[in-house]
Amino acid sequence: MKKIQNYINGTYQDSTSGAWLDNYNPSTGKVYSKIAKSTSEDVVKAYDAAKTAFPAWSTTTIEDRSKILLKIAELIETNLDHLAEAEAKDNGKPLSLAKAVDIPRASANFRFFGNAITQFASEAHESVGLNTMNFTLRSPIGVVGCISPWNLPLYLFTWKVAPAIAAGNCVVAKPSEVTPMTAYLLGEILTKAGLPKGVLNIVHGTGPEAGQAIVAHPDIKAISFTGGTKTGEHIARTAAPMFKKLSLELGGKNPNLIFADCDYDKMLAVTVKSSFANQGQICLCGSRIYVEESIAEQFKKDFVKKVSELHIGSPFEAATNIGALVSKEHLEKVENYIEIAKSEDGKILYGGERVSVKGFENGYYLQPTVIEVEHNNCRIQQEEVFGPVVTIMTFKTESEALQLANGVRYGLSATVWTNNLNRTMRLSKQLETGIVWVNTWLNRDLRTPFGGMKDSGVGREGGFEALRFFTEPKNVCISY
Ligand code: NAD
Repeated sequence: MKKIQNYINGTYQDSTSGAWLDNYNPSTGKVYSKIAKSTSEDVVKAYDAAKTAFPAWSTTTIEDRSKILLKIAELIETNLDHLAEAEAKDNGKPLSLAKAVDIPRASANFRFFGNAITQFASEAHESVGLNTMNFTLRSPIGVVGCISPWNLPLYLFTWKVAPAIAAGNCVVAKPSEVTPMTAYLLGEILTKAGLPKGVLNIVHGTGPEAGQAIVAHPDIKAISFTGGTKTGEHIARTAAPMFKKLSLELGGKNPNLIFADCDYDKMLAVTVKSSFANQGQICLCGSRIYVEESIAEQFKKDFVKKVSELHIGSPFEAATNIGALVSKEHLEKVENYIEIAKSEDGKILYGGERVSVKGFENGYYLQPTVIEVEHNNCRIQQEEVFGPVVTIMTFKTESEALQLANGVRYGLSATVWTNNLNRTMRLSKQLETGIVWVNTWLNRDLRTPFGGMKDSGVGREGGFEALRFFTEPKNVCISY
């Protein structure tokens, strides 16, 4: 059986414990590979390799660093089919999605930061009349930790490690133990691209063991984490007393506000995607739909019809829109939320049941589920489900819609469907989220700041924000 080993100091190696975790294929429910179950000893090995690599990497010219990142991007593209198949098998997502989104984006992340680092600059402040000149020296931090989740495995893993190494840091990184395969395969690509050994070390294993060891390592000076809010809290508790730099990209419960004056057909098509893309397992999915009362009946009818046409099937079937959920535990968690919604008087407009896919009977398939709710203050409206479940609620006025949208502890993204410019501006300012999409969804320009407010996290990724996070600014003040 295939063994997913650590990639430390440029070589694949077993964990020092010699222990392995099972890796499941969610589309079949079967174990298909083994994952190195790393301990703090492996993290120390990875740290030592990173520390040794740092002096040379941090003084490698920007052009040479950039060239290597661009080469990694190119090799990911060359291996697109292989990586996409691995991602679909490991995660349960449709192969078509992995080919169109996950793997191209992983390549784009390296290309983007390979280019961005050549344009990254710092500020100068002349204290006029005082014969003083200040400039900001931005230096790489040293060894940094990157920890990523399972929903967009290679996409989010590379979104962190690419800016970290572009900025001259060396990295100890851990992908999710639920979906480690593509990060494992990246190791080969890093070697082929000529990334010096030790610059990027990939350690596999569980969060509480390997992840915790990264966060708690006293000399790993910055942690970039994407995952659940609870885990983020835990990481902050460990890292904050050690004064580590922290970037936390956490959960969401994103509102999708639909006004009667929107472009209805476009809204309908995109809302199906924003509800159920990747089986609803995207932190940015618009899981709370609020629709203006005057079009609510029509919307519910049209939406349910479109949702009923989605094809649930094996990730490898070309017609599949909805693949398998990532794990048995996650499937059960999502089902439990559907039961909670029912007990809260939620009305199931569509779905809610497991699906048996022919030839894949033990896979983790669930119908896309649409639930109508009457109140905002219930668990299905307040808690992140992170699966193929959306709720629908109606509103009468813009201020009511705003209040409902902001009435949760999360603040990652919001979508607004309207053709009213004044409303667009008002809501863009007042929505308590890090991202507001107007008449679109998951439309990403990698130069823009990405991240959440409230319990959706602290810090921003993307563009120069990421390069600022991964560098330490120093004021140099010269009197002349
Ligand atoms: P998770 O928090 O369980 O795990 C994320 C990563 O953290 C994994 O690699 C895991 O092994 C590791 N981890 C777990 N416990 C740890 C600990 N004590 N110390 C260090 N590392 C630890 O999240 P998940 O279930 O993999 O992902 C789903 C969550 O991620 C959802 O809440 C989703 O909203 C969120 N997410 C957020 C964004 C964003 O950009 N804001 C993007 C994608 C997913």
